[in-house]
Amino acid sequence: MAQPTSETGTPLAEITAPRFDIDFEIAYAGDDNFTGAPVYGRPACYLHHDAAAALLRAIELAGEIGLRLLIFDGFRPTEAQWVLWNHTPDPDFLADPRRGSPHSRGVAVDLTLVDEKGARLEMGTGFDDFTPRAHHGNRDIPSRAQVNRHILLGLMTTAGWDFYRNEWWHYQMFDSRRYPLISDRQLERPMMPPGGKNRQPPNP
Ligand SMILES: [Zn+2]
Repeated sequence: MAQPTSETGTPLAEITAPRFDIDFEIAYAGDDNFTGAPVYGRPACYLHHDAAAALLRAIELAGEIGLRLLIFDGFRPTEAQWVLWNHTPDPDFLADPRRGSPHSRGVAVDLTLVDEKGARLEMGTGFDDFTPRAHHGNRDIPSRAQVNRHILLGLMTTAGWDFYRNEWWHYQMFDSRRYPLISDRQLERPMMPPGGKNRQPPNP
C-alpha cells in the first residue's frame, strides 16, 4: 500500500505531541552542539512514516517501564549534513553527505531516555561525544550507564530499529539506503535558516 505523503510530496511525518508523547531538545537548532552554532533555522523533528511507526512502538515500550524518550535529532536535510561534515569530516561519526546520512533520508533518530520527572538517565557520555566512550559495549563508563544503554538498545531494537555501534544515541531503519535522500527544498516549511550560507552545499 502506498504511504501517505505530505502536501509537498515528501514521505515525512512531523513528530509532535500529542500523537508522539515524547520530549525534544533538537541539538542542531541551538548552539549546544559540536559545531557551536545553530545549524537549523527552527527546532523541528520529522521522520519517514516507517520510522515514525517504529518510534511509536518504542514510546509504548518505554512507557511500560516508566520511561520517556528525549529526541536530539530526526530528519536532517542534506544541506545540514554538509554543514556538519565541513566542520568535522570524520566518517566514524558522520556520514559523508555524498553518500548520504540515514538522517537525510528521514529514517534515523538520535535520542536518550528520561525518567518520569524528565531527568535524563545517565548514559556515560553526552550526545555527539566523538570518543570510544560513546561506543556500545564500552566498559569505561559507570555500570549504571551501561545498564541504561542496554535498556535503550533493547527497547529500540524490539521496536524495529537498527543500532550504530559507535553512537549509543543513534538508531536507524534497517537497509536505510533504500529510502531516498531528502533536501530542505522539498519541505513545505524549510528547516535551514532563510538565506543563510548553510542552504547550499559547497562545490565538491
Ligand atoms: Zn544519528
